[in-house]
Amino acid sequence: MCNTALIMGTGISGSGAAELLLRNGWRVCVYDNAGARVPEGCEDRSFMPPELALRGVDLLVLSPGVPLTDEMVRYAKLCGTEVIGEIELGYRYSKGDIVAVTGTNGKTTVTLLIKKILECAGIRSYALGNVGASFSAVADKVDENAVVVLELSSFQLESIADFRSRYAICLNITPDHYERHGSFAEYADAKRKIFLNQTDGDFAILNYDDETVRSFERDVASGVYFFSARQKVKGCYLDGGRIYFADKGVEYIAAADELRIKGEHNISNALAAVTAAKLMGVENRAIVKALRTFSAPRFRMQYCGVIKGKRVYNDSKATNIDSALKACAAMKGSTALIMGGYDKGISYEQFFAKLPSTVKRIVVTGDNAESIRDDLPEKRGFAFEIAPSLYTAAVRAFEGDEENVLFSPSTSSFDRYADFEERGEAFDCIVRAIGCGEN
Ligand code: ADP
Repeated sequence: MCNTALIMGTGISGSGAAELLLRNGWRVCVYDNAGARVPEGCEDRSFMPPELALRGVDLLVLSPGVPLTDEMVRYAKLCGTEVIGEIELGYRYSKGDIVAVTGTNGKTTVTLLIKKILECAGIRSYALGNVGASFSAVADKVDENAVVVLELSSFQLESIADFRSRYAICLNITPDHYERHGSFAEYADAKRKIFLNQTDGDFAILNYDDETVRSFERDVASGVYFFSARQKVKGCYLDGGRIYFADKGVEYIAAADELRIKGEHNISNALAAVTAAKLMGVENRAIVKALRTFSAPRFRMQYCGVIKGKRVYNDSKATNIDSALKACAAMKGSTALIMGGYDKGISYEQFFAKLPSTVKRIVVTGDNAESIRDDLPEKRGFAFEIAPSLYTAAVRAFEGDEENVLFSPSTSSFDRYADFEERGEAFDCIVRAIGCGEN
């Protein structure tokens, strides 16, 4: 008789898990309280109480959106049913080497940059996980000669068991996702799990410039390499605008201004990717080619062109304070910033304390507009106003005399949009309309 799995959540991850298990002879049941589509070949157990939904189930597989505190998860554990996340499931079926990437910001950029480097080196690879297809959807098709570059969020890492990657990268950890993890310490612990099962033949790649990430060195069993934009380290570093890799000797890789992706945070991202590539034995020629040609994915400081005499950037993917600050810091010249969105309940005091002085105007819109205003410093070098919609916010931002208009919300989009992509599309449309208005 075949084994039975229950999958919680039927989005990209859950559907991928269902396909994988069905291909491998499992009986698959699904549970999704949002009334989502039931993947073909699966039995629907949505809306059933846990004792019925889990009847005859050997394995409970969680989508990243399901917290470990969920009633179904607790009931399954009580009954001794094995509970794993979708990433763990994919791991059990995949054969290739894994490069795992986590961090608060930059995961997608670094994952895709590593994939680009591998492509330039002629190495077959997949970018999976939190980007593109789910790991499970593809896992059992990956052979020993391919490399899986896996973007992992804290939600995905929470539910791993034996998952182990040969190369594990942690980019940075700044406040985010307290709604799920409760505190910064718990959030950092979830990220730290990326190194949990590594052994001494594996590699941990840590951001030396981030205190929390640097401190992980103490806990990892694998070989530690750092990357740093400020300090010479064992690993990859920036010195005098040039990128070096230091291991047994020191090797020059490229000049930072050869990078197509812009901003200091993207130099850090590149250093992380280059460290992984060097440890994988990729030749410098392929690395440099990738650095020169790789452009950031959509809605990450995406340049929209000059509109009404202003350089316009769409950074809809900036869903937390640090990413918005990095975008502000990357702007050359005076900037009007459009921000705001879903209310995560996070304080903006640190945001205003660290805001570059080039930001001369801020227009806020969205559910957290009032709480942003509550954290405004008494003395400030920028104009501030609240607008009722993204459209009005953009119109107001264009009315100022700043050189740049930057949309970098600093929070999620769920107050008004399905996701950052829909929000990014909305901003693109608004900007096009404003541009047409000048004719
Ligand atoms: P993630 O997948 O972790 O969300 P992305 O590469 O999609 O990361 O970028 C998300 C946002 O964070 C974008 O606004 C981007 O400009 C910004 N960002 C990218 N890399 C970094 C970094 N190293 N530090 C801070 N912000 C970053």
